[in-house]
Amino acid sequence: MKAAVVTPGQKDSIRVIDIETPGIGDDEVLVKVSSVGVDGTDEDINDGKYGKPPEGCDHLIIGHEAVGEVEKTGNNVRCLEHGDIVVPMVRRPCWENCYNCRNHQPDMCLTGDYFERGIKGLHGFMSGYFSEWLEYLIRLPPELKSTGVLLEPLSVAEKGIREALSVQGRMLWNPGRALVLGAGSLGLLATFILRDMGIDTYTVATRDKKSIKAQVAEQSGAKYINANEEPIDTLPDNYGDFDIIIEATGVSRLAFQSISLVNTNGVVCLLGLYPSGKKHEVCTDCIGMDIVMGNKLVFGSVSSNRIDFERGVDRLISIKNKWPGMMEKMFTRSVAIDNAAESLIRGSEDIKVLVNMPV
Ligand code: BGC
Ligand code: ZN
Repeated sequence: MKAAVVTPGQKDSIRVIDIETPGIGDDEVLVKVSSVGVDGTDEDINDGKYGKPPEGCDHLIIGHEAVGEVEKTGNNVRCLEHGDIVVPMVRRPCWENCYNCRNHQPDMCLTGDYFERGIKGLHGFMSGYFSEWLEYLIRLPPELKSTGVLLEPLSVAEKGIREALSVQGRMLWNPGRALVLGAGSLGLLATFILRDMGIDTYTVATRDKKSIKAQVAEQSGAKYINANEEPIDTLPDNYGDFDIIIEATGVSRLAFQSISLVNTNGVVCLLGLYPSGKKHEVCTDCIGMDIVMGNKLVFGSVSSNRIDFERGVDRLISIKNKWPGMMEKMFTRSVAIDNAAESLIRGSEDIKVLVNMPV
């Protein structure tokens, strides 16, 4: 079978190779991949800034956002059968004395020695087939086959918003207005969740108001803001302060700037990855004072847990019913696995690029 691999640490190393189809053990499932989404993490890995191959291997099969069909099940697998639509989870526990990993929360791993399929220490899913333990697969209803590839990034947004709501249990809190920074797939999926929850949502990016990103955001009832026309520090004057802010741009400067845009008692959740080590001067006293005097909370959130995938399945159904055809508009381009390298060259209008496997 074909697989798209990179050599972590080496820039532009993506290539397609031929490898053996994996075998499965009694508790495992062989999945035939339908499509794989790419995101900024994959771009960072192919840029040589991020990622780690499995122990003893010089390459890494990339791809961590996948949907596929069950091809074959191991002898002990009872609850999945041939043809079921499944999405794999990404994080795997470290095998150390880690309280969270031992208690099924590898997304909250304490040691940093966790694994992530397609990213850190384990091969990913951009191949004809992959094998997986039953416990890391999520079954989807057949009607989600075409949008199921969005479940993994959606689960990351679900986790961030779940945590934001949970930490805001620190007081009486009634979020009325949300700001999402970024209208890439993560930003848009966060927008859909907030809109699905009935929150008045503003989504900011740098594309113009006629772009697909803007159209998709507005279809969900969010207000799209072009930051080139309305710089983000002008937003509170025009629209009021925001109770919850989701940072999904990967621009750390905006993450710090957003603290001044959040309301008293509000919460800022950072979901972007910032692997480039860029520096930016900020007024630490101003930010510190603002956080303390405003009872503001800023936190980071990475990866997702089974609960976020499961909620994500319900969310995909709800989004599909409320705004038919909207999620599909995010699929701006798809390529065959032989052209996997093209999937990592982002066009200015691209939202979610898919690598499709042969049927
Ligand atoms: C993935 C997460 C992962 C993170 C950091 C993201 O693109 O969706 O599951 O934890 O990258 O590696
Ligand atoms: Zn751990």
